[in-house]
Amino acid sequence: MSLGRVLVEEFQPDVIKWLRERVDLVVVNPWVEPERWELEISRVDAVISRKGKITKEQMQKSAGRLKIIARTGVGVDPSRVDLDSAKEFKIWVTNQPGSNSVSVAELVFGHMIVLTRHTFAANQAVKENRWSEYLKFIGNELAGKTLGVIGMGNIGTRVAIRARAFEMSFLVYDPYIPESHVTALGGKWVGLDELLAQSDIVTIHCPLTPETRGMIDQQRLALMKATAYLINAARGGIVNEDALCRALKQSKIAGAALDVVENEPPAKDHPLFELDNVILTPHIGALTFEA
Ligand code: NAD
Repeated sequence: MSLGRVLVEEFQPDVIKWLRERVDLVVVNPWVEPERWELEISRVDAVISRKGKITKEQMQKSAGRLKIIARTGVGVDPSRVDLDSAKEFKIWVTNQPGSNSVSVAELVFGHMIVLTRHTFAANQAVKENRWSEYLKFIGNELAGKTLGVIGMGNIGTRVAIRARAFEMSFLVYDPYIPESHVTALGGKWVGLDELLAQSDIVTIHCPLTPETRGMIDQQRLALMKATAYLINAARGGIVNEDALCRALKQSKIAGAALDVVENEPPAKDHPLFELDNVILTPHIGALTFEA
């Protein structure tokens, strides 16, 4: 017996197979077929979504059929799922806290090594028969450096634990957790400005809220060392992208790695694309088979 009609974004085949055996499944990639995604929302009992947008209008059209929107990630982005309307129409909205923390933390270390050892550019050089330019790729060790962790929740904590294994020290800015959570792991609990000024790598792991939107702006970037790197695998809106572009162009910081941008997918001519000292990934922090 089918448990109902369920709309799902594309996932790996074994997940789709498992679902198909249990429900009447509709698979739509909202980036590729946005109109079909919108249409199907009003025809299903449940939505399992990574990034698809679900608006008040679609909930209205559903006329009570849609019962649950299950987000596969950690947070629920109110610009993608209209939470107030979901409440009004008595639609459950669920998420999966902690489910992808290790995946994001590991990606962050991958980004750290790409930034400090220039491995993307080095790979390009080898493939373009420029092996002899190897001296351009002198890097830095992570050992002995200071990592600044903004937001010490599930992901931030896993990043901090891994920093110890890399023989790094770490500073934490998170006004909503007890200092003892940081000191117990061997870190130092500091204010945001101190973290930015002292860190060799700053990594962001707080949610996007009215308080954190634009938190890393021109003034805050100016506090960072010229040799420091910024990593954002949280949400795009936390970093002011215009200010970041300027800081990178003027070498006010050494580089940045972004798994998220303010508008996803970014415009074709996004100014960050022109810069050599930034690396970008398409919001893949949680994208592992394990997560
Ligand atoms: P979490 O809720 O466990 O931790 C968030 C931490 O941020 C909390 O400790 C909280 O106290 C802190 N915080 C809140 N406001 C803050 C502020 N103003 N300044 C500093 N810290 C603040 O969440 P998590 O699972 O660790 O995820 C963190 C964020 O990472 C999520 O909100 C999400 O935006 C992002 N994320 C991205 C991906 C990806 O694919 N790149 C995947 C999962 C999560």
